[in-house]
This record gives sequence, structure tokens and C-alpha cells, in this order.
Amino acid sequence: MPWSLTVGRLGETAIRIHVTFLLFLVWIWAAYYRSGGASAAWEGVLFVALLFACVLLHELGHVFAARRYGVKTPDITLWPFGGIANLERIPENPAQELVVAIAGPLVNVVIALVLLVILSATLGGTDLTADSLAKIEDPRTSILVKLAGANIFLVVFNLIPAFPMDGGRVLRALLAMRMGHAKATATAASIGQGLAIGMGLLGIFTNPMLMIIGVFVFLAASGEAGQVQLKEASRGLLVSDAMITHFETLGPQSTVDDAADALIRSTQKEFPVVDGAGHLRGVLTRDAMIRAMKDQGPQTAVIEVMQADIPVVEARSKLDAALKLITSAQVPAVGVVDEAGRLVGLLTPENVGELMMLHVARGERPAAQGS
Ligand SMILES: [Zn+2]
Repeated sequence: MPWSLTVGRLGETAIRIHVTFLLFLVWIWAAYYRSGGASAAWEGVLFVALLFACVLLHELGHVFAARRYGVKTPDITLWPFGGIANLERIPENPAQELVVAIAGPLVNVVIALVLLVILSATLGGTDLTADSLAKIEDPRTSILVKLAGANIFLVVFNLIPAFPMDGGRVLRALLAMRMGHAKATATAASIGQGLAIGMGLLGIFTNPMLMIIGVFVFLAASGEAGQVQLKEASRGLLVSDAMITHFETLGPQSTVDDAADALIRSTQKEFPVVDGAGHLRGVLTRDAMIRAMKDQGPQTAVIEVMQADIPVVEARSKLDAALKLITSAQVPAVGVVDEAGRLVGLLTPENVGELMMLHVARGERPAAQGS
């Protein structure tokens, strides 16, 4: 990932810091400096650094729990808004997902408990005498108090039962023990969306920040539900079940003008450019076509303006692998080829979306339930 620096490595997991996080530290330093001078500035930075060490330990909790089930984590990245552990996959076994999801907040529970034990030892029990109050004022003690509070906040915040918080995954895992994975996700996502709407409404009257978090949680919950639906829909299907087989193609000699004719004739938005041997040379999108028409003129060769690095898959390969290609490779389409490497079909995000709509429509019919 660009804009993040690898600062360490634990086993096969790289620990990264995003550049915006470093800017965030600079900003914290400057903000504290203005209000309290240099010592306050360094104290502020120290607190944020310690807080993010706790966030990193939280993420490592997920990573080590996942490793027990054979799931690798290539990297953890620290952002100003928190840490993201990039797990290779989320275990689909509900009990395993539960353990992986709960492991993160559990780390913060342990940190908070340890800090509270240290604090009660240094403050001499629970009686707040003038002496112990003076100790709280001591910067070394007060940073521990703040850190314990922050860890308790991390536990509570992460256990909000909505995606992408750990609580959303805990809820999904608990539901999945009683119903299927897809239904559990849909139910957990609805609960998360309900909560998000609640947060948004509460935010209108109290804190605008809460509104922003509400919108963020709402979108994340929808995204999670969509991804699982897509996975369920594609399970057991082959590329040949989902690909478009009727489409217009362009030749290497075609011009943007020819492409415009094809655009008018058809409902297609992506046009494969195929050579004489039937091999896919690239894909011209409608947007690229219009841009070329405006900037370079209608006589431009399509081969100059098409996107060339289009991945291809075999018609007999599994659909979910091809969908991963479409979502991760940022391409307008994936070519489908036969054994001889000739183009026989196309997969586009749009036709995959249609496949999903059909799947959902079928799933909603009472007769098809229980599948
Ligand atoms: Zn977590």
C-alpha cells in the first residue's frame, strides 16, 4: 500500500503506519504546544503513541486468534482513526469467527485491568485522600488514568453490535450458530443499520461527530451484507454460468468512430478488442471512448485508447475467484477464454450485479428457502 511505512514485522505480519498517522502526531504536538508549551506537547504525543500501542495490541489479538485457525495476516496498518488488521479471510465457522472477533477487545480488557491494578497500588487503595488526589495530578499517574479510560472506551466502542466493529462480527457469529451464514449476516447487518440510524438521529441533537459515525457504520453494514450475498450467490457456480456471451467486439484496426457505432447499436458499455486469432487485446470502456472522441478525434485507433491489461479466466473456472479479480484488480471487465485462449465471454461488474439480484429474488421465494 502506498503512503504507509513498514515499521516492523511480527512473524508473517508487517506492522505499518500510514503517513496520515504521522501527520496526526505532528498535529497533536502542535495543538498541545499552543495550549501548554513543550512539555504538554510531548505528553500529548506520548499519550497518543501509548494509546496506539494499545490499538496495535488489539489488532494483534485478532491476528494471533486467526493464526490458530490457519488464517494469515499479511499486514496491520495504523491510521489516525484506528488500526486495521488485513486478515486473509474471516473464518466462516461461527465459533472461530467469534473467537477471532472477541480476541481484540479482550486484549483491551486485560490492558485496562492491569492499569487499574497498577493505579490502585500507586494510589493506595480506593480512598481518595488529598495525598492520592495529588498523585493523580502527577503527569505520570494521570497518563495511566487516561490510558485505562481509553482502553475501557475501546472495549465499549468495539463491542457496538454493528459492522465493521468487532461487535458486529460477534453478533453475526452468535446468530450464525442458529441460522445460516448469509441469513445471520443479513440479520446482523439490519441490526447494525438500525443502530446506525439511531446514532445518526442522536447525533443531530447531541454531537455531529456521532452523525458521521452513523453514516459510516450504515454504509459498512450494507457493504458487508452485499459482499456475503455475492459470495453466497457465486458459490458452486462456474464462470460460464455468469458470463455474457452476446456482445459486440472491435478489431485492432477499429477506430473510435467504429466503437461509437457499436455503442449506439448495443446496450454494452465495455467493448473487447479482439485480434484475428480471437485473443483479447484489451477493453475499451464507454468513458474512455467518449474521452478519446473529444481529445483525439474519431479516427484514433481503439488500440491506443483501450485498457490493455485485462485479466482472463477460463470458462470452466470457479466464479468466486473471477469475482475476486473484478473487485480487486479495478478493471472494467474480465475476459473469459476457451482452452485455445479465444475470447468466448465477458464478466462485468454490472452483469455480476444482475446475477446477484436474481439470486436474491430466488432466495426470497418461500419455496426456495432452506437452501
Ligand atoms: Zn477489533
